[in-house]
Amino acid sequence: MIYIALPSPATPENRANLWLIRGHDSDLLIDTGLGVSSLKLYLVDLLDKPLKVVASHVHFDHSGGCHEFDEVYIHQNEHQAPCAGDQRLIPSDPEFGFVPDDDFEAIPYQGFSASDYEVRACPQARAIRHGDVIDLGDRAFEVMHLPGHSSGSIGLYNPRNQQLFSGDVVYDGTLLDDLEDSVIANYIGSMEQLLQLKTDESGRGIIAASTGAVCENWYPAISTSGKHSFAPATGNTSGYC
Ligand SMILES: [Zn+2]
Repeated sequence: MIYIALPSPATPENRANLWLIRGHDSDLLIDTGLGVSSLKLYLVDLLDKPLKVVASHVHFDHSGGCHEFDEVYIHQNEHQAPCAGDQRLIPSDPEFGFVPDDDFEAIPYQGFSASDYEVRACPQARAIRHGDVIDLGDRAFEVMHLPGHSSGSIGLYNPRNQQLFSGDVVYDGTLLDDLEDSVIANYIGSMEQLLQLKTDESGRGIIAASTGAVCENWYPAISTSGKHSFAPATGNTSGYC
């Protein structure tokens, strides 16, 4: 598993973690960033097998670079938006204010302006569903539909090592459940689904989330306040990871 730490001009709020998983037959890229510079070019020396690209959900900081790749997957609830380049659903439309000029610490290329930012259409995106399997030959990831943050949010779960790539479903920080396409009741259902994950006898696994560090030895918990969290088995318990 490779954590892609490319030099990003964006501030941390819009700098999602990207993951490249090397497989025997093919590789898997989870999320593609904002798309303001070429991720494909950046990865070229690492890519020597067919590449499957999965966007954990439609939001611009995860799906922005999908248009560069041939084999792209996104949940069926959201895949029409990147196919059509629907900026409202992505939602990179300037009226939402998620991508202002001051979100960029550097200009990614001459002439760039955040007010012109939009995610390029990705008509080759294919729909995936809960229960689909992303098979890399020597390892495979189950698609878990985990709506709530957005209608098509997914996690990718490897039951062999209890490794969950959680996108924006759980991460190290306050969870966003008040976006235009967020539904809190669905979010609770997704958390309950995660609570059912089979773990080893210690009840522990690994979360690789969209922001923050990889969180090892987690176990799921819902706090008494009703806030959702994934508590580390050891160490700091104040975070969400
Ligand atoms: Zn998101």
